[in-house]
Amino acid sequence: MKLKNLGYFILAIFTCLFLVFGNLSIVNSQSSLPELKTHPLPIFLASLNPIDKEDYFSEIKTSPVGYLIWTHFPLKVYLEKPTETDVSIASNRRFLHWLEIMRKGVTEWAQYLPITEVETEDLADIFIKRNAPPLKPKFNSETGLFDFPPATTAETKYTFYLSKDQPQLLLHKMTITVSPNLADDSTLSAILHELGHAFGIWGHSQNPNDALYFSQVRDTPPISERDINTLKKIYQQPTKLGWPISN
Ligand SMILES: [Zn+2]
Repeated sequence: MKLKNLGYFILAIFTCLFLVFGNLSIVNSQSSLPELKTHPLPIFLASLNPIDKEDYFSEIKTSPVGYLIWTHFPLKVYLEKPTETDVSIASNRRFLHWLEIMRKGVTEWAQYLPITEVETEDLADIFIKRNAPPLKPKFNSETGLFDFPPATTAETKYTFYLSKDQPQLLLHKMTITVSPNLADDSTLSAILHELGHAFGIWGHSQNPNDALYFSQVRDTPPISERDINTLKKIYQQPTKLGWPISN
């Protein structure tokens, strides 16, 4: 069975769009994807009991392999670094400042999930890149022209792969791209929001007090109890991720 998929979330200045496109074949025709099954709820999530019981789980979308759930912890995060470390150069200082804000976002989430920073991209589950996400024009069949979305500030996308060990497990990786051209508070909002997507919150909240609110707001919303409740519910759902493929 062939698996076709790449998923994208794009956080634009005023809206965060959800797009799925692309092609990836990782499972050969002799093999079949795992069944959808539920993993045990990780202990660090099971032990969280927020007072506020609300969530926005109904807004969460599944991928073609089910919910986007991680099964091996700590999650390994790699942050893009400047190639030059000479801080007398203004562009390097800006890059290092951006990096500092990325680390702040990772630290905020690390209160809820075990996360560790790794030194090379190939070891990472989640790769955080510094770039303005490319504009992805959409064909408008009414006008016959391509419409350009508003400038995007951040995006998260996923890809699938098979582990090298036997039995081979179906796994995923996430790539987050955050623009270098944002004010500090917007940069922090963007990374908190996109990390939520990367951890599996593949949808948006309608509440401006949640990190996963669909739009950017003036103040950086902290990670809320509703964000955590939603994440906890997601990790109790079935997925093909983290299970072995059958040959
Ligand atoms: Zn989003």
